[in-house]
Amino acid sequence: MINLKHYIINLILFFFITSIIFSQNNDTKGDLFLLGKNDLKETLRSGLLPEAYLKFKQMQNDAKKEGIEIEIVSGYRSYEKQKNIWNNKYNKNFERRIFGIKNINRIIQYSTLPGTSRHHWGTDIDIIDKRFIPKGDLLIERNYAENGIYSQLYHWMKKNSRKYGFYLVYDDSPQRKGFKFEPWHYSYKPLSVIFLRRFIDRNLLFKITQDSSLLGTRFIDNSFLKIYLKENLLDINKHLK
Ligand SMILES: [Zn+2]
Repeated sequence: MINLKHYIINLILFFFITSIIFSQNNDTKGDLFLLGKNDLKETLRSGLLPEAYLKFKQMQNDAKKEGIEIEIVSGYRSYEKQKNIWNNKYNKNFERRIFGIKNINRIIQYSTLPGTSRHHWGTDIDIIDKRFIPKGDLLIERNYAENGIYSQLYHWMKKNSRKYGFYLVYDDSPQRKGFKFEPWHYSYKPLSVIFLRRFIDRNLLFKITQDSSLLGTRFIDNSFLKIYLKENLLDINKHLK
């Protein structure tokens, strides 16, 4: 009975949010959502939209049966939060005397321009196995590699995550450019492919550098953005395009 109630609440929330996102008469709101500028907090569960959350819970439960304890360390992230991450990295690089476009290129090895993060959408998560919490960084490649503390998690996800709709975004394909391999970052495909398409169709990327409180925008011109679009936003796991 409790489960049924839970399911119905999730279903209502799902229709509520999709009606906001897909409303034909409400394009501005939909666009803001894709840029992380529409507050989704009421709708999200563990940083995910209701449909993605339900599938995540199933995946988490099934992994637990095999001893793996999947935990989300980062789900939804607002535009403002991503801007803080960006500006902090920009200032740190500047202090290390990395200037101009070199600074920008350093940041985009792992971090997105605010407004272009897939974490804005409520479909993308960074995960760990909560049985193992190291003293240092969680989200580093060697933790997920053979003999790393999250190698069991990585292999389980590789074998099973697609059944629940979750795909690695920045995979280890040798031809891929843009963001580096992120063995911790998964996306809920049934929704995120729609959001990515919409983001591209609306040409939203070219609105981003209009924010004067975003550091380094004077080094970001349209030709930079075109490459960023091709190599960073679109050169991802082929199943998510
Ligand atoms: Zn991530």
